[in-house]
Amino acid sequence: MSEKTPESCDRCGNFLADSGYFFLEDKDGNKEYMCPTCRRKHIEDWYEEQRQLNSAVTMHAAIHRDWEHADEINQAVEEIMTAIKKFEERQWFPKLKDYYNESTSRGHKDLIPAGKIMMWGCAGRVMFTIEDSGGSWISTMVSDDDKTSTMGLHALYGTKEEILSLLDRATKTILDFHPDEEVGIGL
Ligand SMILES: [Zn+2]
Repeated sequence: MSEKTPESCDRCGNFLADSGYFFLEDKDGNKEYMCPTCRRKHIEDWYEEQRQLNSAVTMHAAIHRDWEHADEINQAVEEIMTAIKKFEERQWFPKLKDYYNESTSRGHKDLIPAGKIMMWGCAGRVMFTIEDSGGSWISTMVSDDDKTSTMGLHALYGTKEEILSLLDRATKTILDFHPDEEVGIGL
């Protein structure tokens, strides 16, 4: 499947050959091409309007430290990382690591208050996705056999408060995972 390289930015019209480009794709597969400057403005405007954390916003804040919201977002990611490590320490190491490694299924699911938690493994890694019934979610990734801490942030969507609440519920719930064939790469 080959695709023609776009010539100009759909937002400002600048020639894209020298600058590199990004694109947004809608659900019908239509692409909007952007130069790096328009991409930066797009992410910053989106955050200012939505006030939600996602991978584009957190990556942007980590790179563009001069952005006025960078500090608050980087601080939020640090707090989320601390909560991820707590989940790893309380749930992964004492229980879930053995449960996963002794199971022959890849996908597993359980419920948490006002949400659910899914676990899916592939190629030596295990991904957890914790979803709130209100729409926020976070995915973490961990090595399936390391004895030291490897769990990290994979992707997320929601406010800092929503994400921390999700991780807190997932950490405090007495989890009882069961295999679920619907949990897989498409989720
Ligand atoms: Zn542009």
